[in-house]
Amino acid sequence: MVDKKLNPMQLYKLLPQTNCKQCGMTCMAFATRLALREVELKDCPPLHENPQYATQLATINELITPLLAAEETGVKLDDTMCTGCGNCVVVCPVDASAEPDTASGKAARSTDTVFRVENGTAKIINLEKCRRFPPDRMNCRVCEQGCYVKAIEIW
Ligand code: SF4
Ligand code: SF4
Ligand code: SF4
Repeated sequence: MVDKKLNPMQLYKLLPQTNCKQCGMTCMAFATRLALREVELKDCPPLHENPQYATQLATINELITPLLAAEETGVKLDDTMCTGCGNCVVVCPVDASAEPDTASGKAARSTDTVFRVENGTAKIINLEKCRRFPPDRMNCRVCEQGCYVKAIEIW
C-alpha cells in the first residue's frame, strides 16, 4: 500500500537550487508546493532542459510517480490480506499485454507488469501503467473484482 508523503526538503535537494524563479518562486517554495501537488514538476524548466540535472529529474520522478499513480487510479493493495494467489497478475489487462503468459497463469518474468507476486505476496510495482491512470482514464476494476479476499480496493 502506498501511503508515503513527499518530503519538501528531499525534493528541494533534488531541484537545481538556483532560485532562478522561472517557476515564479524560489526552489524551496517550489519544493513545498510540489509536495502538496500545487505545482507540477514540468513547471521547473531548468530541471527538464539542462542535461546536468537528468539524474535528479529521474530521481524526483521515481519519488512522485507512485504517489501520483495511487491518487489518480485509486488502486490500493493491502498486502496483509493477500494470499499470494496471483489472480491480480493474471486478470490485469496491462499485465496480460506486458506478459501474455500471465493470462495462462504463468509467473511474470519482467518488471513491466502492474502487479508482481514476490515471496508469496502481491506488490504493485508499476501503478502508473494502470488503465485508470491518465491519459487512458478507463474505469477498469478487474483486479478488484478478481481478488477474492478483497485485498485490492479501488476508491
Ligand atoms: S524554476 Fe526550478 S530552478 Fe528555477 S526557481 Fe523554480 S524550482 Fe528553482
Ligand atoms: S488477487 Fe488478491 S490475494 Fe491474490 S495475489 Fe492478488 S492481491 Fe493477493
Ligand atoms: S484497474 Fe485494471 S488496469 Fe488497473 S491495475 Fe486493476 S486490472 Fe490492471
